[in-house]
Amino acid sequence: MTGLVLVLNSGSSSIKYQLVDPVAGTALLSGLVEQIGEADSPVADHTAGLRLIHRQLIDSGIDLAAVRAVGHRVVHGGNLFHAPTLITDEVVAEVERLDELAPLHNPANVIGIEVARKDFPDVPHVAVFDTGFFHSLPPAAAHYAIDHDVATEYGIRRYGFHGTSHEYVSRETAAVLGRDPAELNTIVLHLGNGASASAVRGGMAVETSMGLTPLEGLVMGTRSGDIDPGVLFHLNRTAGMGVAQLDELLNRRSGLKGLSGVNDFRELLDQRAAGGAAGEAAGLAYDVYIHRLRKYVGAYLAVLGRTDAIAFTAGVGENVADVRADALAGLEGLGITVDPQRNGSGKGARIISADDSRTTVLVVPTNEELAIARAAWKFV
Ligand code: ADP
Repeated sequence: MTGLVLVLNSGSSSIKYQLVDPVAGTALLSGLVEQIGEADSPVADHTAGLRLIHRQLIDSGIDLAAVRAVGHRVVHGGNLFHAPTLITDEVVAEVERLDELAPLHNPANVIGIEVARKDFPDVPHVAVFDTGFFHSLPPAAAHYAIDHDVATEYGIRRYGFHGTSHEYVSRETAAVLGRDPAELNTIVLHLGNGASASAVRGGMAVETSMGLTPLEGLVMGTRSGDIDPGVLFHLNRTAGMGVAQLDELLNRRSGLKGLSGVNDFRELLDQRAAGGAAGEAAGLAYDVYIHRLRKYVGAYLAVLGRTDAIAFTAGVGENVADVRADALAGLEGLGITVDPQRNGSGKGARIISADDSRTTVLVVPTNEELAIARAAWKFV
């Protein structure tokens, strides 16, 4: 049986789409509608955005009768959803109820689902949850050390995000090494605009850096990652900042952007190379980014005990050799030796560690759309 899966990723102000052949593992078409709902944008809302995408699909000349399923990336599955789920009215209502946990993302996901179900009424729609892979976190990793009753009442725990990518990359890592995922311990470093780390033992996630929300953990484009929660109380008391301002500060004006003024990693590297005061700020941002990454690598080596592989993925992880080299520099004593030649060249999934490195270091391109398409295809 052949056919295509339309993969939709509705963000707060953008919708990414891809038309995927899940059996061949190829993308036939992909695109992006941006600036949804922003002033002066021709795309007033998500409904208009999806209409535009439908138009682009028709204009592409691809026979839309070949679309046999639609896969939806949904950011938060809460404690309700972990496996890919066939979407029904009840599922939509339950995802809507999770809006509180992901106020920026889940509402956009729900609108995407509702419009797409009208556009493609005769095929299964499948929700794939960004939190799903981390459902298996052991209690010691999932719990925050706060009042148990408060945590239970409000659903406060480590959920983790980018799960589709961490799962896909950990499995691809095993495939590259010709090993069974069940016997492999892997650290996955997903370094994109958002960034997260995971420790995967025998195919199951045992730790990850993002928490209740995608704000915790590594330094990101505009997000702070880890910070003393006391900073929030302090800024509330001394600067009078309220919840909305603090949310904006940590989610939009922090990370690389907060430290250097730019959130895009390419711009950060250019700015650092240009020197001057701005170059110094970019250099500091780079150093903070690397330092945090090294702390997580060290922590996850201890969580796993035996680490067979470390895989770098996403925009920065796949493309910036210096980040990979600096993140793992000087760890020969821990059995990790990156080979500069291998690290600096090559394309696609590949090994970049030296032959005598006890832990194999790899670059493994992520492909969340393909993973979502394959998950949706199972319902056809
Ligand atoms: P998203 O989280 O939006 O999916 P990506 O995984 O595409 O993000 O990663 C985006 C980040 O990767 C940006 O900071 C971008 O600058 C960086 N990036 C992508 N390609 C390169 C490159 N060739 N060199 C340096 N940085 C890159």
